[in-house]
Amino acid sequence: MERVYIGLGSNLAEPAEQLRSAVAALGQLPHTRLVGVSAFYQSDSLLPGQPRYTNAVAALDTDLTPLTLLDALQAIENDQGRERLERWGPRTLDLDILLFGDRLIDEPRLKVPHYQLQERAFVLYPLAELAPQDLRLADGRTLTDLLAACPFVGLERLPTD
Ligand code: ATP
Ligand code: MG
Ligand code: MG
Repeated sequence: MERVYIGLGSNLAEPAEQLRSAVAALGQLPHTRLVGVSAFYQSDSLLPGQPRYTNAVAALDTDLTPLTLLDALQAIENDQGRERLERWGPRTLDLDILLFGDRLIDEPRLKVPHYQLQERAFVLYPLAELAPQDLRLADGRTLTDLLAACPFVGLERLPTD
């Protein structure tokens, strides 16, 4: 099995509920074990005029191939009413593969590590709750390095229940 980190995001139709439903669906994936879920974090949209986002990260161990996992994640997005009207438009659910073991994937449908992992505080801080701080990307930087370069600004960590 390989350890995979999934970024979850929502800014429509009760975002926290969307994330809870998505976590339940991740827990039902075949050949896959849900290992952990971070706290939920809120932040303003990067694009003006959109509702605030709620984000989290989930850790999975899976025997699925990367593209099979992507298909399954897109099916969960669709089940939860994801509409693809415009790039980066508001969405009920976004599920992105952040890391898949230590693989580098460069296919038309799938780039891993996620191309904006290091720029996004709403990804790095929840990821740091689950992943080892000495986790190393292909370019040699550790998660600790990435966090040091990405201030915890504009993020609100919600209380866990
Ligand atoms: P961003 O990629 O900036 O976070 P987004 O998540 O809103 O934007 P989507 O509309 O969810 O983008 O996905 C667009 C396409 O990105 C998908 O159809 C998928 O094939 C592709 N994609 C490439 N790499 C990944 C990845 N690591 N995880 C999920 N989708 C990916
Ligand atoms: Mg995304
Ligand atoms: Mg996406």
